[in-house]
Amino acid sequence: MTRIGFIGLGNMGGPMAANLARAGHAVQVFDLVAENLQKAITAGCIAAGDAREAVGGCEVVISMLPAGEHVCSLWLAEGGGQDLLGALPAGALVIDSSTIDVASARRVGEAARARGIRFIDAPVSGGVAGAAAGTLTFIVGGEQADFEAARPILAQMGQNLFHAGALGAGQIAKMCNNMLLAIHMAGTAEALALGVKEGLDPAVLSTIMGKSSGNNWSLERYNPWPGVMENVPAARGYQGGFMTRLMVKDLGLAMALAEHAHSAVPLGALARNLFNLHASQGQGAKDFSSILALYLDKASG
Ligand code: NAD
Repeated sequence: MTRIGFIGLGNMGGPMAANLARAGHAVQVFDLVAENLQKAITAGCIAAGDAREAVGGCEVVISMLPAGEHVCSLWLAEGGGQDLLGALPAGALVIDSSTIDVASARRVGEAARARGIRFIDAPVSGGVAGAAAGTLTFIVGGEQADFEAARPILAQMGQNLFHAGALGAGQIAKMCNNMLLAIHMAGTAEALALGVKEGLDPAVLSTIMGKSSGNNWSLERYNPWPGVMENVPAARGYQGGFMTRLMVKDLGLAMALAEHAHSAVPLGALARNLFNLHASQGQGAKDFSSILALYLDKASG
């Protein structure tokens, strides 16, 4: 049993913390949203009044926050936040699983190292269903020894654990993955809308493409068409998955990375524009598979 602090109990962090509690760890949790905190307590976690209390006495602390500014605010006291690193003993292990910009991940990691605290960037893939089932993919940047130290904890929340390279490498790999995910989700929605407008059944078309060369994760595991698949956001009004605004954030991170690398990303840039357009139409809080709406004819008034 390890005493673990867990900050950020949203769509992903909530079920991840619950899995650690289920595995027998003492998981001290905090979130700014009372409802999210309450769900984690119901799942067996221990409530803390603030982040500092959550990390008290912990050897391992995990953060699962929306973006780089939240992570820097929490760990480095930037933007009026707390200096949570200062609350940890030397030798503690910080695992940041948020998807954030590489520079922020490196800044927090280096500040941690300067205080003798171990840090890995460990963004995840697999969605809310993967978080709930404990089958996430963890993509880790940092020291090999710190990755090995984190392995037993990560294995209780995920199935595939990868060490991508040095500090920040987890975020780079995650951005490449999410850019590809955005492209194939938009492409899947586009292909399904075309077939349905020409009279095909979306479930039949999905089965055909799923066994053909157009198959991909968005089609096979996260189908955007309502009614084709159970237990995906499309089956519940696009609630509770990976919010469109978080995908827009990730695509922005991928574009910044491309600029840094002088790498052409024409499809990534197009996908970013599509998801941005969708978000600007009031869909930012819905799951990103709701991009399907962009391809559907609007009912005339
Ligand atoms: P979310 O918005 O549902 O959850 C974020 C949580 O952080 C919220 O509950 C919020 O209240 C909390 N929070 C923010 N600032 C805080 C602070 N200072 N102290 C305590 N709590 C704070 O987002 P999510 O979908 O869980 O995603 C979290 C991260 O994981 C993001 O970086 C996202 O890009 C990434 N991610 C999400 C998915 C997905 O399918 N949802 C998949 C892979 C990666």
